[in-house]
Amino acid sequence: MAGKKIPQNLDCKSESHDKHMCYIISQGYHLSNPDEYDALVKDAEFKCRHCGRRAKSLDNLCEPFRL
Ligand SMILES: [Zn+2]
Ligand SMILES: [Zn+2]
Repeated sequence: MAGKKIPQNLDCKSESHDKHMCYIISQGYHLSNPDEYDALVKDAEFKCRHCGRRAKSLDNLCEPFRL
C-alpha cells in the first residue's frame, strides 16, 4: 500500500465536517483548489484543537479556538 495517510478528525460530529480543514485536506482540496484553500487559511484567526489546522473562520474547524 502506497501513499501516506493524512490525518483528519473521524470523530467529528459536526454536520459540516465536509467543510473542515482536516477533511478537505484529506480529500486533496488544497491541491485541486489552491486559491480557495489559500483564502480559507489566509490571516487565520482560529486553530483546530484536534488536528492543529488553522483557518480564518471557525466554521472550517472541528474544535476551533482563537489564536
Ligand atoms: Zn470536523
Ligand atoms: Zn480538525
